[in-house]
Amino acid sequence: MPRHSIEPRTRQGREYIAGEWKPHREELEVLNPSDHSVIGSVPVSEVESLDRGVAAANDALDTWGNHLKWSWVRRAEVVDTWVQHVRKHQSELALLMAIESGKHLDESRADVVEAIHMLQYCAGRGRQPIGERVASEIPDKEAEIYLAPRGVCTVITPWNFPAAIPTWLIGPALVCGNPVVFKPSEETPLTAQYLVRLFDLAAREHEAPPGVLNLVYGPGHVGEHLVRHPDTVGQLFTGSHGVGSRVKQIAASHYDKFAVCEMGGKNSLIVLEDANLELAVNSAILSAYKTTHQRCVSADLLIVQKSIEPEFTRRFLEVTDGVRFGDPLDTAFLAGPLINQKAVDKFEACASRIEEECEDRLRQGSREGPGNFVRPNVFRMSHRPGTFALTQEFFTPNVVIVPVADFEEAMQVANASEFGLSMSLMTDDFRKMREFKVLGRCGLKYVNLPTIGAEVHLPFGGMKRSGTGMPSAAWLFNYMCHATAFTVNYAEEIRMAQGLSAKV
Ligand code: NAD
Repeated sequence: MPRHSIEPRTRQGREYIAGEWKPHREELEVLNPSDHSVIGSVPVSEVESLDRGVAAANDALDTWGNHLKWSWVRRAEVVDTWVQHVRKHQSELALLMAIESGKHLDESRADVVEAIHMLQYCAGRGRQPIGERVASEIPDKEAEIYLAPRGVCTVITPWNFPAAIPTWLIGPALVCGNPVVFKPSEETPLTAQYLVRLFDLAAREHEAPPGVLNLVYGPGHVGEHLVRHPDTVGQLFTGSHGVGSRVKQIAASHYDKFAVCEMGGKNSLIVLEDANLELAVNSAILSAYKTTHQRCVSADLLIVQKSIEPEFTRRFLEVTDGVRFGDPLDTAFLAGPLINQKAVDKFEACASRIEEECEDRLRQGSREGPGNFVRPNVFRMSHRPGTFALTQEFFTPNVVIVPVADFEEAMQVANASEFGLSMSLMTDDFRKMREFKVLGRCGLKYVNLPTIGAEVHLPFGGMKRSGTGMPSAAWLFNYMCHATAFTVNYAEEIRMAQGLSAKV
């Protein structure tokens, strides 16, 4: 599927509500970040469609979320069929993603594989134990923890993992019995539509109730309508800290809403003097430049012990000089363009702020048209607490090398940020590894690896400003059900726990 031959059905976004595809409306152009060409368009969902989507999901809840009508296994089987369709179409999906998001084809393929892994995991969970039997003080009583669905969930996702992140959220929600209204990023709606089309095939094969998964489109106000909607309960959000905080606030003002938010990061890779330098440099390159530094786990800071900092920096810059961001379909490049003009502006604004604070600008980045291409900036700066460079998320290819005296100072720099998503430590010292595991204030910690590299069966969630403590991917299963206590008495009389009298 070369970029000019994306089939019309794929280019034309249509809402999917109550199991039906609505007519295409050409309201929001979808641009190719590599050359700004228009690759398709989608509607901007109106209040009426959003309300119908929420109503359809609530109607579906009566069947899908009712264990007297639909079992966990049956729900998981729908997801199992979905993943088989995704596998069948994984090349087309990855190519569409590379064109729409600018993510390099290799990364787009990995994104789809991650989505496949997540859906496989979710399907497998359908046949795992659900709930628990627990002991009672009373011999004639039996107690069970019964897991009940929580209700209709809104899923709002960012552009940078257009297949993986939706499945991290939609998969657990659906298997646990919670219908979904899905609003993908306005930058990558066509990839989302492709994924939902494959779901639709599975839903039809299993005669799933219409409205189990609904797809709507548009910018922030569309998402906010869903979050505020009185009939959505779970707000499953991944994106920036600013938007996630708003989602949390809205949810907190409703008695029955909960918010699972995965947000931005300020990630560090620490290099100690005993580290294998080649491993350290390669890990730093992957952490800083994969996805053109547009991963929530991209490393903004390379914190390097002073004794080896000059040698590390020399080698890091040498490799940086060979790094090229270019056509995402051309394997000669490491990564693609920035997502949009706003990101290019942010790239420049970040660099100006960092330049005011740092001692050295080691590499001067630049824009490289005609698409949203840039070359990275590299700075060096001493440990200056509270600065923009050391505390705020860049999400664009700006990298700051911070020389430090020792491991203790490195941990101070890494932990000082209000974000807490990912960190890496490069060392062969097993005691430092353990201290790092205990002291690192973040959700993902790696040793002798880049700050990137999630796997779906692990929790994926940030501390502090980066998350709500309810990690997504596999761990989301822990939050998608109400744990309810179910107790049965098999005797002819009442006996109470704690020795409480049952005399009436
Ligand atoms: P974003 O916050 O701008 O948008 C995310 C989603 O929220 C989009 O679908 C957008 O339309 C929607 N949205 C915007 N305003 C809204 C509102 N008021 N109410 C409801 N929804 C609204 O993020 P982005 O630019 O797409 O992605 C980049 C950000 O996401 C970075 O900060 C990155 O670190 C973060 N991110 C975090 C994770 C994680 O798992 N922690 C993963 C990927 C990306």
